[in-house]
Amino acid sequence: MAEDRLKDLRSELDVINLELLQLLSKRADVVQRIGHLKQTRGVAIFDPEREKQQLDRLVEENPGPFPDSTIRHLFKQIFQASQGLQEEQRKLLVSRQRNHEDTVVTVRGIKIGGGVPIVVGGPCSVETDDQMEKIGQEMQVQGIQLVRGGAFKPRTSPYDFQGLGEKGLRMLRDTARKYGFATVSEIVNPADVEMAIQYVDMIQVGARNMQNFELLKAVGNTRVPVLLKRGLSATIEELIYAAEYIAARGNEQIVLCERGIRTYEKATRNTLDISAVPILKQETHLPVLVDVTHSTGRKDIMLPVAKAALAVGADGIMVEVHPEPQVALSDAKQQLNFAEFDHFMESLRSSGMIPALVT
Ligand code: PEP
Ligand code: MN
Repeated sequence: MAEDRLKDLRSELDVINLELLQLLSKRADVVQRIGHLKQTRGVAIFDPEREKQQLDRLVEENPGPFPDSTIRHLFKQIFQASQGLQEEQRKLLVSRQRNHEDTVVTVRGIKIGGGVPIVVGGPCSVETDDQMEKIGQEMQVQGIQLVRGGAFKPRTSPYDFQGLGEKGLRMLRDTARKYGFATVSEIVNPADVEMAIQYVDMIQVGARNMQNFELLKAVGNTRVPVLLKRGLSATIEELIYAAEYIAARGNEQIVLCERGIRTYEKATRNTLDISAVPILKQETHLPVLVDVTHSTGRKDIMLPVAKAALAVGADGIMVEVHPEPQVALSDAKQQLNFAEFDHFMESLRSSGMIPALVT
């Protein structure tokens, strides 16, 4: 008889446990909604005054048999767990704390960030069919899978070559399809994003547009991979927030690119912040590339700089290549010619920093 009674009471407790669980989950849901409001209004998560009010009220209403101190203790635990939920919400989507696993960005089947470094090569600007045909052949010889080429060029002077626009994207695509490459090209105007994704496999947001928030939102609304370059004077934190703009719109296919920043140093075009690579790898779960062309602006040091970038954990290198750099319509001084590019690639391969060519 007593046995049956114990069983019944235990069943009653099981039901109450489930009810408590339901209530805790319901409470957690409200906590998260409050967390969201706090975040959008910039309000602190922990509010000691509010916590005191809640505990006082609970003690006041305590019907027993638990003593007030136990009620305080139990509810403190609930409050702490709730605070944890709100803190979890505050972590940026791109942060390593939010996602411990490395994100692998896939561009037409090519993996960036999967542990095998890649080289992204191609001209600063798409110029002519003949130039692109030569690029196609050279990139194929060197086993380059992701080819770059600018069609919308953000130039310092309005009198300089501004790029071929949509026609340039079409030329890049045609070359890429002929040789089986994937493509990346910069877009500068949010209104061009929809058009651009008809042609390119990856959209580049250039250094000058890293904080063009409307552009970041526009590429974030697509599901096309994005190459986001660090702004000329942007801090690492600002680069991470720029990436968050894209991720917040649902597009987490983002590759970050360190391309040098403005300093007082004149020996290089920009100062490559090599420490940004391991910091970005630690702070975010996104792949990181290093652009050795725009950071150094010097062909004579591109190879050791590329090696340094790979040694500190970069997921790949971006480098500009042109069949006749001396007559290039942009960045004539710093694009590698084919012989220089062959040497560059061969040196990286022979040092084992990038995979050997499969023939
Ligand atoms: C580019 O990659 O073509 C370019 C203009 O680079 P950045 O935006 O880094 O200057
Ligand atoms: Mn360039």
